[in-house]
Amino acid sequence: MVSAMPAMRGLVKSAAGAARFRLTGRRVPLAVTLVLTHRCNTSCGPCGVPLQPRGELEAAEWLELIDQLARLGTTRLVITGGEPLLRPDLAAIVARCAEHGMWTVLETSGHDLPDRIGELGGLGRVMIPLHGPRAVHDAMVEPGAFDRGVAAVEAARSAGIRVGTVTLLARSTLSSVDWVLDFAEQHGAEAAFQLVAMRGWVASRGARREVADDDELRRALRGLLEARMAGRPVAMSEKLLRSMLSWPDLAVPFSDVDHEDLRCMAGQTFCTVGADGVVSGCLPQSSGTMNVRDHGFDAAFAGLRDGSCRSCTDTACAEANFLYNLNTPVVLELARAGLRSRLRGEA
Ligand code: SF4
Ligand code: SF4
Repeated sequence: MVSAMPAMRGLVKSAAGAARFRLTGRRVPLAVTLVLTHRCNTSCGPCGVPLQPRGELEAAEWLELIDQLARLGTTRLVITGGEPLLRPDLAAIVARCAEHGMWTVLETSGHDLPDRIGELGGLGRVMIPLHGPRAVHDAMVEPGAFDRGVAAVEAARSAGIRVGTVTLLARSTLSSVDWVLDFAEQHGAEAAFQLVAMRGWVASRGARREVADDDELRRALRGLLEARMAGRPVAMSEKLLRSMLSWPDLAVPFSDVDHEDLRCMAGQTFCTVGADGVVSGCLPQSSGTMNVRDHGFDAAFAGLRDGSCRSCTDTACAEANFLYNLNTPVVLELARAGLRSRLRGEA
């Protein structure tokens, strides 16, 4: 899962919430990821999510949870899966988030998006996987996936919704990084990149085969940093790219020591609610045991304990950790991005 930078209003609320947490130490779910389903109509090679079916909360339970999160001060929601578009109630869920003024991101393979985009007003951003040109992307996902993904990008843009692409930095995709940035520029999108998860529930058994050599990964990260500095649409902060470059071993994305302001804030200012309602600190380390159906969100969130890691290179988690640790360069970068969006009339 790769979430996105919040719009200006969301950023101000996020920073205020983080400052409050600093002062009071009171846990607040400022950002929440909702995994609506593990079902998926796509089969990306390194992904293990659809291989682990789970029960799913009913629409009314998600709506009630969203109301509760709004009361608790949640400002950012990421709706993900599996494939969230497989839920017929997705439009109602997105609409409820919009009613509460939450900055809402939808992560989707995009395959049914052109037909459903009209139902999804109120989204802040859509994130769509894009691993390279047709041959590269289809080899990673499945035949026909590239054309469906591009159609989804165009449908979202036509509907006036901001678009982000998500590219795995994998053995078979590293040579496509520049191509992805060209595509993002041509389609008014921003491109995020993510290391392959090799363990945990989000990884398939075959994920390790896609892990690139450390040297090759560092070359790609240096290229992304240069592209970012040159103003290309890299949806990763300079701070994150530099942190990844100084990470001791990119094949081990989780660490049990604090890395300066990458200190883990999962379970303190953000969390994940699984398809079956289990509340965990974050998506890669879904280790919670209490669920919203039996215990209620408050108790499940309060019951979260420190995870097995203290810092990580997962793109979404690391950016959230920088933001909620109030890392100054990251907050300033986000503010500049938010202002640019405002000037373009996007948020
Ligand atoms: S990465 Fe997303 S789209 Fe691909 S199989 Fe996994 S859940 Fe489905
Ligand atoms: S450091 Fe925190 S946010 Fe990152 S994977 Fe570990 S528990 Fe999740």
